[in-house]
Amino acid sequence: MKTTREREIRIHEIVSIVKVLTILQAAIILFVGLEFNVGIGVVRSSQYNILLLMLITMGVLVVAYKFFINRNKGKLFHIIETLFLVIFFTTLINITGGYLSLYKPVFIFLIIVSSIQHGKKFGLNVASICSIIILGMDLIQAGYSGINSYFESDLILSGIFILTAWLLGHYIELENEYRDNIMELAVKDELTDLYNHRYFQEYLHKEIKKAEEEKNVVSLLLLDIDYFKNYNDCYGHTEGDKVLTEIGHILKKEVGDNGMVARYGGEEFTVVLPGKTLNEAVAIGENLRFAVEKNHFDGEEALPYEKLTISVGVSSYPEKSIGKDELINSADDALYRAKFFHKNRVESYVSILEELKKEIEDKHIDLISSIKTLISVINAKDRYTYAHTERVVMYCDMLGKRLGLSEDDAKKLKYAAYLHDIGKINVSKAVLNKKTKLTDEEWSSMKMHPNYGVDIIKPVESLKDIIPLILHHHERYDGRGYPSSLKGKNIPYLSRILTVVDSFDAMTSNRPYKMAKTFDEAIEELLKYKESQFDPHITDEFIEIIKEKL
Ligand code: GH3
Ligand code: MG
Ligand code: MG
Repeated sequence: MKTTREREIRIHEIVSIVKVLTILQAAIILFVGLEFNVGIGVVRSSQYNILLLMLITMGVLVVAYKFFINRNKGKLFHIIETLFLVIFFTTLINITGGYLSLYKPVFIFLIIVSSIQHGKKFGLNVASICSIIILGMDLIQAGYSGINSYFESDLILSGIFILTAWLLGHYIELENEYRDNIMELAVKDELTDLYNHRYFQEYLHKEIKKAEEEKNVVSLLLLDIDYFKNYNDCYGHTEGDKVLTEIGHILKKEVGDNGMVARYGGEEFTVVLPGKTLNEAVAIGENLRFAVEKNHFDGEEALPYEKLTISVGVSSYPEKSIGKDELINSADDALYRAKFFHKNRVESYVSILEELKKEIEDKHIDLISSIKTLISVINAKDRYTYAHTERVVMYCDMLGKRLGLSEDDAKKLKYAAYLHDIGKINVSKAVLNKKTKLTDEEWSSMKMHPNYGVDIIKPVESLKDIIPLILHHHERYDGRGYPSSLKGKNIPYLSRILTVVDSFDAMTSNRPYKMAKTFDEAIEELLKYKESQFDPHITDEFIEIIKEKL
């Protein structure tokens, strides 16, 4: 589909061609006039000089016009240009006989281009001026006896001028209105009257490009309604839809001129904030979160916290991402973190991979980028794994501090946490998302993911220390785990930490085949399997951390 901008450029091109042709026409008229009028007198020859000068200026202008065709020219430019052409044609008519001239209709070109380019009003103004000029010439130059006949025929010509401007201008306006309506329909979401996903993608693409050129920033918010499924379950989709519309209004009102609000899909919204830094975007996100929280929604008492709320993820270009998709993904990550920290919350993106990048030798940077790609593939295959990874890194960070790990070990643990499930890339989507119990065969393919993970990171020299951590993150304290059936303290310490955290997050997340446990239920489970599955000391410390958060 052609964009409005492309259309404007095409119209400018056509109009420029018409202008060039008109000037050529004028040049022909001029030379014909020269031949017949040589020696007519001093006044006339000075008019020729003016005309020639104007013609040259015009040539220069046309070149400039072509050159600047993609630039936005102000209204003043168009007015001056039109005035110039009016004077030019008036002089031309004057030279070729004034009220007797056969070239009066030459104004029609100017009227046509003015109406096409600037609409009815501008076209009518130009047509009126041209009419006044030709009728004025009749009155001033024709003398008493000639006025009537020339004036009458020029009245008809003026009528044609005005009608042409009106007709063309009107048509162009109708067409523009129609186009705007269609465009509006194509970019709006029917339910909320916000912009739709497609427009959001286009808009973000454009804003990022602009920011790149102008060395500016763009921030992005992703917003998701908390427990919205519960609301729909209680009151039905129609009532749910009303909430979506209401939230749409709130967001639009609060964001105002700061940015563009769109419905991202389902019960998720997004706000693009051109020129806003990450911190400013977090503040705006916080305003939005608060505005939704303080608004009363019918029936919100039925929700877990008796309030309808939203969670917000924030990221920014270029501070936190290198392009559009990454900006969206990172805001999505941040949204998951916000959901995790008990929802009704704003979180900004923290990139572990960027930290990792800083420490890895240059020659392996490419591999980190491939790992990043692999992780986004996992995200597409199994969104749980992606969000899960982010949470596991966060828990490991907290637990590592509590256990007093050395800086080096804390880092290793964090990287291992980040990469521990990367081997799932080799497990089929069907197995990862299966809602029923896995068959023996499927289960053994799933159990291979630590080995697959090791295969992937093996080539990176700087990651060699985390190989054992990934390989053994499914070992059990009693030796009944996989892949090596290591027992107790034979399992690397950092791996044992990872196992506790990983299992806790698996218990507390919704998986395709089971509903999440509450934090309390998960703590019970950890206590139950302490010593058989988990390292008892690590388990106790982790439970303390979770209890502090409850
Ligand atoms: P969470 O707090 O984790 O976001 O929980 P949630 O219940 O909101 O869960 P999730 O985001 O997974 O569920 C989205 C729900 O939003 C599922 C569906 O019932 C509802 N939903 C999605 N699109 C629409 C829509 O167009 N209209 C209505 N009424 N509901 C929708
Ligand atoms: Mg959702
Ligand atoms: Mg939701």
